[in-house]
Amino acid sequence: MVSASPPAASSRTPRRHRTTAIATLGALAITCRHPAAPADDPRVLSSNSPTPTPTSTPTPTSTSTSTSTPTSTPTSTSTSTSTPTPTSTSTQTPTPANPTPFGPPVAIPRYTCPVVLRSGSHRSFLAVADTQVAFVDGNDPLALANRAPTGVLPPDYAPSDLVDLRSGSPRSAAACESSHACLRRDAATALSAMLDAMSKDKVAGQVTSAFRGFSTQCWVFASWANKARGGFCEATQQSALPGHSQHQLGTTVDLFTAEWAHEGMRTGGGVFRNGFGCSPGGRWLDENAWRFGYVLPYPIHPDDRSQGSRCEPRRDRPQTINAKTGYMQEPWHLRFVGADAASRYHEAWLASGPGSPDEITLEQWLRRDRGLVGDAELPVCDGCECGACATFAPDDHGTPCGAASLQLDASGRALAPSEPPVLVGARATRDGGVIAVEVTVRSPPHTITQTPVTSAEGPTYGPGSTYESLAPHADDPPRAYADLAGAWRVAVEPVPPSVPQGGAESRTPRWPWRTSLASAEIAGAWNRANVLLPARADESSVVVRVPATPGTSKLRVTLLRDGVEHDTREIESF
Ligand SMILES: [Zn+2]
Repeated sequence: MVSASPPAASSRTPRRHRTTAIATLGALAITCRHPAAPADDPRVLSSNSPTPTPTSTPTPTSTSTSTSTPTSTPTSTSTSTSTPTPTSTSTQTPTPANPTPFGPPVAIPRYTCPVVLRSGSHRSFLAVADTQVAFVDGNDPLALANRAPTGVLPPDYAPSDLVDLRSGSPRSAAACESSHACLRRDAATALSAMLDAMSKDKVAGQVTSAFRGFSTQCWVFASWANKARGGFCEATQQSALPGHSQHQLGTTVDLFTAEWAHEGMRTGGGVFRNGFGCSPGGRWLDENAWRFGYVLPYPIHPDDRSQGSRCEPRRDRPQTINAKTGYMQEPWHLRFVGADAASRYHEAWLASGPGSPDEITLEQWLRRDRGLVGDAELPVCDGCECGACATFAPDDHGTPCGAASLQLDASGRALAPSEPPVLVGARATRDGGVIAVEVTVRSPPHTITQTPVTSAEGPTYGPGSTYESLAPHADDPPRAYADLAGAWRVAVEPVPPSVPQGGAESRTPRWPWRTSLASAEIAGAWNRANVLLPARADESSVVVRVPATPGTSKLRVTLLRDGVEHDTREIESF
């Protein structure tokens, strides 16, 4: 079942028979990611200091629901002359270097979590096929555990070297779940050192949650789904589905400061309230946790930060999940990857341009050596984020999102339908300096596309901007939406086309204006990353707004995949 391979190099240091007293834990309470354990939960541990029972108030976190409707302007005078121009050049699809980038699939013999998967006539949130195979090797300290169908741990996985955070004594997973707060030995040792350092710096730490097994995570998720006003779907933004939580790795803690926890107790706001990232403790962790082998996997996306701040989200537009991680900001959620890996990650993060759109998270860093395409995988389809989810289930098996999903092959990669999409028609309308190009495409279900997603409301290609430098929102800096292998996009260029002029600085790419075949409604969250997406199935229109450059009287439109043109048309007047 679970691979017994040893942890990877960074935290492979054997510490046999070593019992480390894990001192200085102000208080311990097993809660969830994110609902607090109820006060009468027997797993809430007492401590020498008053244990505030976190009464988490979930941060109101609306996902973006930009409802942009591509609108065609009927006054346009356009003619689409079909001129198939087989001017394709590069046709090779890169051969995946790593045949099992997510790890070898392992069958899940039994999956039990009634809130997620029901029997009989009850509605299930997950397709059965998405509960039958696990890819993640929990013993790998660099495991890619996330919201994707490929990011799930086997339900029966638990680390074999869990220790009690108070005493440092070995504990079984069952004991950890019922009455002890535990981490894997190396993670616990490092946590102890970090807590000592925090105390010295007058930001005494307090662990609120540590290892949680599959059944605990199911319980936690169910309690969240019951409490949240938005039910199951709101819960998915606050709490990981069972099997998808990094807490099951035994290397992850939710860590606050005693002061923060006491304040939450006093006000009734709980610990999971807004603002911890900018508190002294949150800032300390952001700056120093990596020195102890811990990283913060879930930062605010750079686009969503208040200007000049790393910890404060901007308030002038709805907060969404960070498309590069799948989650909202969690400045308390710390994952141990080992001192060496954390140091290497920190260097890579610094080199990626903190604050810029290219800033990496742990997710992108872990993906680098696996040959994975794009910034992240889409979450598993649960009926909540249709249009931006993935599944192993074939259509006739009752998937929660039907055709509005990426389908995955047995290795976890996106699976292309056998038929390509077809360009049905194209027309353009000029409005001052902007030309709105509306393209109708017929796409077989599960056609693969990618960001950027555009609509009549934007984003807009301005003079000089291309798919290699497009701002997803007027206030955002531009970023590149490089071609992802296998993804179809609508592409537009002026006639005659701008061709590469030599010299990297002045280079204008062919087909400078490219847009997704995905639903415009997901643009708000997902344009913050470069990811594969499912195209809208059947016939639909996309709108891309391009600059009306002087002298341009024609545009060319095509369906582009891996640099190859299909169904190219010219639009002669607008
Ligand atoms: Zn957590």
